[in-house]
Amino acid sequence: MKPAIWLDGSLRDGDSAMVSVFDHGLTVGDGVFETVKATEGQPFALTRHLRRLARSARGLGLPEPDLDEVRRGCEEVLKAHPVPFGRLRITYTGGISPLGSDRGTAGPTLVVALIEAARRPDATAVITVPWARNERGALTGLKTTSYGENVIALARAHEHGATEALFGNTVGALCEGTGTNVFVVLDGQLHTPPLSSGCLAGITRALVLEWVGAKETDLPLEALRGAEEVFLTSTTRDVQAVHRVDDHTLPGAPGPVTAEALRIFIERAAADIDP
Ligand code: PLP
Repeated sequence: MKPAIWLDGSLRDGDSAMVSVFDHGLTVGDGVFETVKATEGQPFALTRHLRRLARSARGLGLPEPDLDEVRRGCEEVLKAHPVPFGRLRITYTGGISPLGSDRGTAGPTLVVALIEAARRPDATAVITVPWARNERGALTGLKTTSYGENVIALARAHEHGATEALFGNTVGALCEGTGTNVFVVLDGQLHTPPLSSGCLAGITRALVLEWVGAKETDLPLEALRGAEEVFLTSTTRDVQAVHRVDDHTLPGAPGPVTAEALRIFIERAAADIDP
């Protein structure tokens, strides 16, 4: 599929959508983004994604995004390519700036691209990585385009036959994955790290908390080794069972708590596309 792109106010095809080499998002990672799932031309949880985009932009000190314009961009690319299953990638950056760390005055760049995507994946293996998420950093909790740390960790996961890498934070508490939040079953009880662990306020995480229920608990990273079940949540994975963490196997994944969480998630998401 040739990607349909919304760039700064109009629909372009993939070949003619150009962003400046001096775009501050490219040169210093001064940008924020969202990935939104779309099924049969309909975005899922778009309002929550737009709210988070605005929150991340505010956190980075970018001008307030025009959310009507972002919504229009999403509608236009979905209309141009009504794929059965896809992902909208919304990127909003500081815009063109002379090389250096200061933002220019030309105004922000907005790109909405539609990418065809795979459907919900099966159970997977994950690894833990030795690098810490900073729970007190300037970027903590913001969905910025500064994802280099996640790129390195995910490459390490792939080297180990896994599809996700989980981080602890600076005090050794379980935090999140490179693009996922994590849930853990201990003594039959479902837990997920609190936002104070430094994890992103994942939209899927919030929906699982609301629809399924879980305790927000600070857990040591090692808790994964004693877990009965582990699952990941994200826009692209929904609720994904984990069958191995490093060398600790979780036989029978998805276990009963994960299977129930997935069942509830599918049922509720089908009943409301913008919960
Ligand atoms: N944590 C990080 C670092 C992410 O990048 C993402 C998603 O992109 C998530 C968690 C999951 O968030 P969501 O459920 O909103 O996709």
